[in-house]
Amino acid sequence: MEVNLISDTITRPTQGMLDAMMSATVGDDVFKEDPTVNEFEERVAQLFGKEAALFFPSGTMANQTAIKVHTQPGEQLICDHFAHIFNYEGGGISFNSGVSCKLIEGTRGMITAEQVEAAINPPDFYHSPLTSLVEIENTTNKGGGACYDFSELQRIRAVCDKHNLSYHLDGARLWNAVVAKGENFLQYGNLFDSISVCFSKGLGCPVGSVVVGSKDFIHKALRVRKIFGGGMRQAGYFAAAGIYALDNHIESLAIDHQKASEIGAILATKSSIQKVEQVETNIVIFELNTECISEQKFNKFLDDHQIRIIAMGGGKLRMVTHRDYTDSMHEYLISVLERLD
Ligand SMILES: *Cc1c(COP(=O)(O)O)cnc(C)c1O
Repeated sequence: MEVNLISDTITRPTQGMLDAMMSATVGDDVFKEDPTVNEFEERVAQLFGKEAALFFPSGTMANQTAIKVHTQPGEQLICDHFAHIFNYEGGGISFNSGVSCKLIEGTRGMITAEQVEAAINPPDFYHSPLTSLVEIENTTNKGGGACYDFSELQRIRAVCDKHNLSYHLDGARLWNAVVAKGENFLQYGNLFDSISVCFSKGLGCPVGSVVVGSKDFIHKALRVRKIFGGGMRQAGYFAAAGIYALDNHIESLAIDHQKASEIGAILATKSSIQKVEQVETNIVIFELNTECISEQKFNKFLDDHQIRIIAMGGGKLRMVTHRDYTDSMHEYLISVLERLD
């Protein structure tokens, strides 16, 4: 049996999703005339209680567009040193926006209001870059799927208000946080100026992210998306997949979380595993005890059993559960992991 746990992005559309895509009514979305994209953007805006939304071909473009709209060249944003926008978006913050990052060493990718306040440059000290944006990730990717306490996000909002900073949420896996914590999307829409969410991860769509914000913000984002080359024509086929996912694929994320937690529990009992980070959602990050097993040996062990996972650098390994990781794959994986020392 082949088991692919490299990411939840490997998920493929279900038959129901494919049917919805095939029967979508489409038009030219660059002229704003694709009814399915329009309906999808409306749905996501409503979900968050925001005025407007915009569909993007990738989460990277969604975040980069939000950063571009919130900042001017020469300014600085504040984020955790694990942030996807800093580590995995190709240097886009400096390339696209001419903005630098003040990196905070948070806990598992999460920062506090005190850390944010201490990282703000005094606005009248013109020698240092002007701080204009705070960026948060929930759940954290490099932080192992960790979820914020909502109260901390509220405290950071208060700091942003006090210092006149914009507040953006990279919510690529916000679905997972909301399901794991029993939260709702409106409370996030209320708190942040802009939010990006991914449909192509745990929700199983082939493509797509959405940014929500005020009407004025989304109007500016539309121009930036055009500049980035992200205008799509009959994108309604993809939007139909997104609508289907909203209706059918959110609640089942809890199953992915349950499986991840079981994997984490098994790994934690093994002497060949040095450390397993707390599993809160669908990501398991762990480190080997290299006195027991080398990374090379461990990789061969997984290879021999047709199990694929990913290395995160610094000796950290990652497994991500997802909707295409079936119950029988899970049983098989557990039985293989049981064989470790
Ligand atoms: C996946 C991801 C993104 C977007 O990545 P794309 O591959 O461009 O869709 C953004 N932020 C986080 C935290 C992610 O995990």
